[in-house]
Amino acid sequence: MRLIFLGAPGVGKGTQAKKIASKFNIPHVSTGDILRAEIKKGSILGKKAAEFVHSGKLVPDEIILEMIKEQFKTDRFKSGFLMDGFPRTLEQAEKFSKLLKELDIKIDRVINIVVDEEEIVKRLTNRLVCGECKKIFSLSEVNKNGSFLCDVCGSELSKRKDDSEEVIKHRIEVYKSQTQPLVEFYSKKKLLENIDGHGTEDEIFERILARL
Ligand code: AMP
Repeated sequence: MRLIFLGAPGVGKGTQAKKIASKFNIPHVSTGDILRAEIKKGSILGKKAAEFVHSGKLVPDEIILEMIKEQFKTDRFKSGFLMDGFPRTLEQAEKFSKLLKELDIKIDRVINIVVDEEEIVKRLTNRLVCGECKKIFSLSEVNKNGSFLCDVCGSELSKRKDDSEEVIKHRIEVYKSQTQPLVEFYSKKKLLENIDGHGTEDEIFERILARL
């Protein structure tokens, strides 16, 4: 199974991507997670990416494409993959299609999760993430349980630096201008499946499974 997950920030893409990747036992490639890990390590890539990531801007295409090419040099993706947060611009989508063609790999489906903007802002301002396993929580859920520790691995939960109200607004604008055109790009290729992202985690998961 070779999948691409599309959707604005906050639609639940990361959560569903993790569940689907684990169900099909395929690698989950989140460019956002890779970049945050590199920033934490203080690597050269991390230093180049930090300013963009923290301000909600897209990291330049050439840096991202280099990172993806590096990943595809290994055999890790032979039996499938789930791309989460990549491609994010038309340039990335076109270059990725070219790379896959060279490697004789075909995408099976592009899953586009759709949620209205008001709900997105609400979800992102309330979002907490586990520093270790990256599980996502909502502030209301955490307040109810009275614990700021992850229920899976016990690590501390924190707010992402780019989940401040100002940066969230900017990320949504960036999504509309740079990433939304990919919906048409993949629709023309007859790969797109639009998924309603409202409802519970399990409901959305079932909706995605029904389209695969
Ligand atoms: P995400 O975790 O997918 O919301 O990504 C967080 C941030 O990482 C984005 O706001 C960008 O700064 C950067 N980023 C992640 N993926 C990409 C990509 N494919 N192209 C450019 N920047 C990216």
